[in-house]
Amino acid sequence: MVVSLPKPAGVAVVDHPWRSSSGAVTAHPHVLAYPRSIEALSEIICEVAERGGTIRPVGEGQSCNPIMATNDTMVSLAQLNIPMVEVNDTGPRPLVTMNAGAAIGAIEVALSSYGCALPQVFSPNATATLGGLIATAGRGEAAIAPPLHAHILAMEIVDGIGHRRWLTHEDALFATRCSLGTLGVITRVAMRVQPDTNYGITRVRVPMEAVFADFEAHTQDHDVVWFDWLPHSNQALLTMMDKTDEPVTPGGKAAIRRLARRGMHTLAANFRLPRHLAATGMASLWSTNEEVQAAAHAIPPKDVRGVHHMGAVLPAATWKDAIYALYDVMVSMNVPAPLPVQITAVAHDTSAWLSPASNGPGVQLTLAAIPGTRPGPWFGAAMDVLLHHGGRPNWDGVHRLSLEQMHELYPEITSFNAVRTEFDPAGVFSGVQVATLLGRIR
Ligand SMILES: Cc1cc2nc3c(=O)[nH]c(=O)nc-3n(C[C@H](O)[C@H](O)[C@H](O)COP(=O)(O)OP(=O)(O)OC[C@H]3O[C@@H](n4cnc5c(N)ncnc54)[C@H](O)[C@@H]3O)c2cc1C
Repeated sequence: MVVSLPKPAGVAVVDHPWRSSSGAVTAHPHVLAYPRSIEALSEIICEVAERGGTIRPVGEGQSCNPIMATNDTMVSLAQLNIPMVEVNDTGPRPLVTMNAGAAIGAIEVALSSYGCALPQVFSPNATATLGGLIATAGRGEAAIAPPLHAHILAMEIVDGIGHRRWLTHEDALFATRCSLGTLGVITRVAMRVQPDTNYGITRVRVPMEAVFADFEAHTQDHDVVWFDWLPHSNQALLTMMDKTDEPVTPGGKAAIRRLARRGMHTLAANFRLPRHLAATGMASLWSTNEEVQAAAHAIPPKDVRGVHHMGAVLPAATWKDAIYALYDVMVSMNVPAPLPVQITAVAHDTSAWLSPASNGPGVQLTLAAIPGTRPGPWFGAAMDVLLHHGGRPNWDGVHRLSLEQMHELYPEITSFNAVRTEFDPAGVFSGVQVATLLGRIR
């Protein structure tokens, strides 16, 4: 039961646990705050800072890492009363300011009504927030490009003393672009977007041998490309997307495919099917097809509720070995058919100190469990494999990096923490989990 306290700040004292979308993270926040204005957000931060408390920003809670939560105060921008999208100028790549609390799919659809599109493609039903995506180096659907945060030219953030900062200087943006909610609450983000476009989409089922052999060629040849490897089946689905002037194909079959996939997930979650049978059954749903879709509808909806996920960006030299090692672990631990492992090329990202791709180009592997199921110890073993192969964990996934590992993986953490001390001198955004990962600043 939630007891509402003083409006208009939208602050509620909570007497039940808060759970992330997957259920991977549970917390018992004393307060859940839904500020309707930036001033109200600022007041909430000041109040928590004055009493030496902890505050954590939260979006849709789709990430699987406990650093998003606290037992003190969690703040959501879901009710922030500012425009979702403001187009600031015209031209081929208009400058757009967006509400960081808005769902990325809704932003995608709103932009298409202005004739533009985000620089990366998201499903129109994607409910992850812009702020959550940026904070965790989200990158939409496998574009061979740096994460979405790399496109940010300016952002508004309310820091640890409740000050509203409008950041345009690169020195600050290196820290704030991928900041895990530890420098303040991001409220607005400005970036140049691209003209709305249609994508020609081709999906082909391929054996894993072809993935290993043709990965580099495919990733160089297409605007957007990724592989979904279905362990235990030796099959992968190759999705290639290229901008086109062709009209949208009528009567897409995405809804039918989604229903069929859900049916297989329900079967796999409720009956312990033989691994190969389940995997081959899922792979058989992957039929080769071609279609043209508008940018805002190019990515079919995916099931994200109840899904535990994790992964890492690996050096180009090690990802193939990592796949073999992951499969050995799956077999030795008798892991039932998980959801496909997404394999995608990642460009070198020099825009943020804590970007998993800041070390150079690489390959991102993302693993997910069947919706509604718990991955168990398998995810821990998989993370050991990824780290052993030089991976930098996905910030939105399950991981247990220590401060010592952070210093090894991210030498720039010292510069990041200097900005953290400036933006949040009292450490109001540093709960226990943040301190374990990044160190204490108070
Ligand atoms: C199965 C599955 C698949 C996914 N696949 C993809 C994918 O392919 N590509 C992709 O880009 N995303 C993907 N996502 C979404 C992904 O988890 C996101 O990266 C994102 O972190 C989730 O956004 P959120 O709003 O749920 O953030 P949350 O999980 O609520 O928060 C994530 C972090 O951001 C911080 N934060 C949230 N809002 C703010 C803010 N306004 N200011 C400062 N910090 C903030 C939080 O403190 C937390 O540390 C997937 C999610 C699932 C469940």
